[in-house]
Amino acid sequence: MIKRKSFFTRFLFKRKLCPVCQSEDIILDAAGHTGKYKCLNCNYIGVLILEKIIKEKKE
Ligand SMILES: [Zn+2]
Repeated sequence: MIKRKSFFTRFLFKRKLCPVCQSEDIILDAAGHTGKYKCLNCNYIGVLILEKIIKEKKE
């Protein structure tokens, strides 16, 4: 028996944050064609976003 869950235990998550209000409600504008992001919280639109890397430690 092989437990395949261990494959995901040390995954790095990148979370996108709005540079204005630091909300996580960020989506790709125009389905990614423009490469711009849109914040659903403050309606910020631009290429600049904050990225927060979260290390999950689950054994
Ligand atoms: Zn925002």
